[in-house]
Amino acid sequence: MISKKFKKILLGAVLVSNVLPLMASEVNVYSHRHYATDKKLNKMFTEKTGIKVNIVKGKASQLIKRMEIEGEYSPADVLITVDAGRLELAKSKGLLQSSSSKILDKNIPKHLKDSDNMWYGLTKRARVIVYSKDRVDPKELSTYEDLANKKWRKKIAIRSSNNIYNQSLLASLIAHDGKEKSLQWAKGVVKNFARKPKGNDSDQAKAIAAGIADIAVMNTYYIGRMANSKDPAEQEVTKKIGIFFPNQEGRGTHVNISGAGVAKYAKNKENAIKYIEFLSSKEAQTIYAQANYEYPVLKGVEPSDLVKSWGDFKEDSLPIDTLGKLNAESVKLFDKAGWR
Ligand code: FE
Repeated sequence: MISKKFKKILLGAVLVSNVLPLMASEVNVYSHRHYATDKKLNKMFTEKTGIKVNIVKGKASQLIKRMEIEGEYSPADVLITVDAGRLELAKSKGLLQSSSSKILDKNIPKHLKDSDNMWYGLTKRARVIVYSKDRVDPKELSTYEDLANKKWRKKIAIRSSNNIYNQSLLASLIAHDGKEKSLQWAKGVVKNFARKPKGNDSDQAKAIAAGIADIAVMNTYYIGRMANSKDPAEQEVTKKIGIFFPNQEGRGTHVNISGAGVAKYAKNKENAIKYIEFLSSKEAQTIYAQANYEYPVLKGVEPSDLVKSWGDFKEDSLPIDTLGKLNAESVKLFDKAGWR
């Protein structure tokens, strides 16, 4: 535990280092996001409401750690991060508080937010199967479950189990298929690894382009980023892969979110809620999701043309906070299955 005295000293350091001004109309946002369009959105919000937005950028793990250390002295009003598993972690550490907002209730689909209203999904991504257009007939693809089929022996590229995206995917399998089946699944996929898990989602697509693997699992926005990359080699990779939305005949494709919650010790709670409400609005959703080739969560708002070109799909409507609740179980199963 950190003593109160130490917290006070730390708070001093935090205030001096960040100069988050203590004005009446402001909102302090701890965010993992760092897109040019986010600046534009914050400007729009300030113009609309007169509330100044102060951003502290960092990796999710750093921001969560920082909020823990700052405790009740934390200047954070809003935490923005990716993956329901991480938001649930922040919740479980007592770093968030519940909000009450008719606007958020209306704008955010029920399955894409925390059941206690401690966080809300703001953009959506699908975890899809990508395949080599040269070597795989998409008719051979069907479900996540089928990735354990021995017909894919040594043909799958997928990142490590340390990664929250895979932990959340396995959590969804546990929720739908049960623990035992999910363990068997993980073991089957390990046998089908084309190589030891390494790299991020883009690296799995690169493995297909390089002929190392035939299929891979990745979040949709990585495909968007590569297709629009400044690096021509990355653009080439996307020409060699096809996108397949799994489990369309059944429960739908696994989706995850980036989202926001009001910080437990928010000094500007009303502004924090207003800020999250703004990000869920029609005008913000159009810009917000497009910045990272994601899907808007607000009904009636279209994704970017590129994202649209991948086609419509049915999404898994499992309440998304389940992914966080089953995270520890998921990590345990990965370990048992020898998925490193
Ligand atoms: Fe990512």
